[in-house]
Amino acid sequence: MTEIVTRFAPSPSGYLHIGHAYSALFAERAARQANGRFLLRIEDIDIQRCRPEFEEAIFEDLDWLGLSWEEPVRRQSDHFDEFSDALTRLVDLGVIYPCFCSRKQIRTEIAAADRAPHGPEGPHYPGTCRQIGISERTEKLNEGIEHAYRLDTAKALDMAGQMVWSDRQAGQVEADPGLFGDVVLARKDTPSSYHLACTWDDHVQGITFVTRGEDLFPSTHVHLLLQRLLGLQTPDYHHHKLLTNESGVRFAKRDKSLTIRSLREAGNTPEQVRQLAGF
Ligand code: GLU
Repeated sequence: MTEIVTRFAPSPSGYLHIGHAYSALFAERAARQANGRFLLRIEDIDIQRCRPEFEEAIFEDLDWLGLSWEEPVRRQSDHFDEFSDALTRLVDLGVIYPCFCSRKQIRTEIAAADRAPHGPEGPHYPGTCRQIGISERTEKLNEGIEHAYRLDTAKALDMAGQMVWSDRQAGQVEADPGLFGDVVLARKDTPSSYHLACTWDDHVQGITFVTRGEDLFPSTHVHLLLQRLLGLQTPDYHHHKLLTNESGVRFAKRDKSLTIRSLREAGNTPEQVRQLAGF
């Protein structure tokens, strides 16, 4: 039987809140109940928003909650070269194209379109740079025009065929990676997107069971496609419910009073905070 390896993968762009506590405790419990392993990953690819003091606080807060994880902790910003190798593999497959459009150009194009397909993160990229000819593309690259790298999702899907993942909450789910359109996998200021870095790192860390909030359910469709293209195993998934306040609104980083830190400063014990998170 496959060993259960779970992970908690926070981004150090703020202090952990009670929703994070739930997610971390959920992943740790899933590993413990199966005599498996629980790992930690710092998802700090967005170097503009992530800060070392928040990373420090993650270790401190999780430790205070009574969690322990296997070392080493994987910090994504230490592995940009690996993400770029993974991207090169996709480029070699012919499923990546450079996109020179600015955000403003994309907005204008979408506004002018009769019908713009929408995904979980808003309207799809209209595909402008997918259609430009090879000579124009080479010219732009030679001129050093800033660009992102997008996945040619339709082409990738043709290559990948049908994909299914097993979700402990949702059952057998057929992947529909077209959901987001041609996603960005890398850009100048963020050399890897969440989708690529997360998929790659779940593989490198040997994660067999990905547990995370149901807000990330749509992303899993894209992760399956990347796994198939890169020849990686698909782990099992459990997209868990999100903790909400009495009005049903999910906790966010801006709810300062509900950070693990402020709950602790207000005199709560680790047991009380675990209980508040439902553990
Ligand atoms: N870093 C993501 C977050 O903090 C979680 C990624 C994941 O669990 O796949 O929302």
